[in-house]
Order: sequence, then structure tokens, then C-alpha cells
Amino acid sequence: MTGAGKKAAPPRAVITNIQGFSIHDGPGIRTVVFFKGCPLACRWCANPECLSPEPQIGFIETLCTDCGECSQICAEGAIRGGKGVHRIDYSRCTSCGDCVDGCGYGALVRYGESMTVPDVWDIVRRDKMFYDSSGGGVTVSGGEPLLRAGFVRELFELCRQERIDTCIETCGLAARDALVEVIPVTDHFLFDLKLIDPKLHKTYTGQSSGIILENAAFLMERGVDIVFRQPLVPAITDTVENMEATAAFLKGSGKKDVSLELMPYHRMGRGKYRALDMRYLMDGTEAAGNERAEAVKKAYIDLGVRCTISR
Ligand code: SF4
Ligand code: SF4
Repeated sequence: MTGAGKKAAPPRAVITNIQGFSIHDGPGIRTVVFFKGCPLACRWCANPECLSPEPQIGFIETLCTDCGECSQICAEGAIRGGKGVHRIDYSRCTSCGDCVDGCGYGALVRYGESMTVPDVWDIVRRDKMFYDSSGGGVTVSGGEPLLRAGFVRELFELCRQERIDTCIETCGLAARDALVEVIPVTDHFLFDLKLIDPKLHKTYTGQSSGIILENAAFLMERGVDIVFRQPLVPAITDTVENMEATAAFLKGSGKKDVSLELMPYHRMGRGKYRALDMRYLMDGTEAAGNERAEAVKKAYIDLGVRCTISR
């Protein structure tokens, strides 16, 4: 509880990256703010550094010269050095970042920094002229930004005051209160629909699709501007059953201008799995090529769904 006269601490969020000049995350040129922490753990996730809500240290083995400096610096004894056995013991690591600062070779990287709304605002506002000239704005992504709905609301209120367009990329697994909180300050939603079947969704993401589909229906009923997105993961999301179920769900909403954007699976996140000493579970799956993406797009159009491919 805050004492009389004391101001509540400003909300903070752990941010992994603030990326300017994006053209794939909503209309126009955008700055994308990546939040750390996600309620899902999709096997194909390309941003494994966004899964945990806490800052983490990654180790890029190919850049390491085995100089041993970091193991001297680490007060927790969390780094074991030496050729071929260089590892971070995450059970000891406090993510203080001292080793990152001490490594002269860029082999250690810090994923996530605790930031306030003004910290983020100071960065995203700098590109206002590009937003204005392109119809762009600010997109929050992750991870799952709706885990920090109060933060997003405050950030977007500032954007609104400066007439900056706002967009949320969400996995859809969020508390209803969080959605209600951000709707008044959000211009667009990019909403993931991965697998409709609840059991398959749980198998591949760790959670059922139930609440996600309810939230999707709720947003459509509220008449928000929404684009659904589906990762095109060969033999997982592009099955006939999932395409038919997705089409039925979207058409069943009664919303006329509903559209689906396919996000072809790629393997570019593999290096980050190695850096975080995490297992990459998709080694047997090839990236979704153009031909497959075009075939899936056509199948959706034949099912009566307006469909595009994200390039
Ligand atoms: S300080 Fe950097 S280069 Fe030296 S051993 Fe540690 S990670 Fe490798
Ligand atoms: S972040 Fe801090 S605790 Fe973790 S390995 Fe580096 S120096 Fe040690």
C-alpha cells in the first residue's frame, strides 16, 4: 500500500528489443516494442528470448575466444570456462549483466531490460515523422504484451495524445480485463490463430485454444480492426483439418471483412535457442517455402477466407 502523499511506482516491463522501421507489423512504417514473457511456448517460436518474463543472458559460442574473462568477473560462479565446456549455469545466474559488459568479443548478450513507460516513449516518439508520412505507428509484440496491459495502456495513451497509430500483436491468451483495458487506445489488433483444435493447440503450444477463441470472438463482436495471423508450419498448422476449422471459425463470426495473414515458418531463431542453452524442437521441419505458402493461401481463398502471405 502506498502511504499518504507517496506516488505509486510507474509500471515497468521487461523489454527485449525496440525495433524501428518495421513494415510487417501493422500499417505503414512502425516501431515494434517486444515484451518479455509469454503464456504459450510454441514449438516453432522464433523469439525464445521472449518466453521467460525475466531478463536472461545468452552465450554466442561462435564469438567466444575462451579468454576466461567472464568467469573471473562473475561473482556468482555461474560461468564455467574452458575450451568446449563454456556454459552459463542459469540456476546461479542473476542476470546482473556484469559478464556482458566485461566480454570484449560480444559473445555474451543480455536479453531484456526493465523499462518504464517514459523510457519506451522516449524511444518510440523519435520516429513520429516516419509514422506520419507512411500511416505507420507503434506496435507492441513479444512475448505477450497483454500480460502488461496497464503498461500498454499508458504507452498507447501517450501515442494517442500525439496522434500516433497503435497496434497490438497478441497470441490471444489473455485475461478479458486486459483486453477491455486496451481496446479504447488500440487502433489495430494482429491476433494469432494457430490451431483450432484444443488438444492439438495444447500439444504444440502448451495451452488449449479455448480462451484464445473466446477472446477472438469477443474482439470481433466489439468491432475492433483485427487481422488474424496463422503461422504456416508444415504438417502442423497447414493440415486440411486445421484450415477447414480455421475457415469455419472465421466465417462463423459473421464479420464480413475478416482476413487471415499466413506467417511462413522459418528457422532463423535457432541461434537464439543455442545461445540460451534451450533445445530446438523443430529440427525435423523444413521452412515453409513460397510454393507451399501459395498453395495454402489458395486453399483458404477456396474456403471463402480472405488470405494473404506475410513476406
Ligand atoms: S569474456 Fe567473452 S570471449 Fe572471453 S570467455 Fe567469456 S564469453 Fe568468451
Ligand atoms: S549475468 Fe551476472 S550472474 Fe549471470 S553469468 Fe553474467 S556475471 Fe554471472
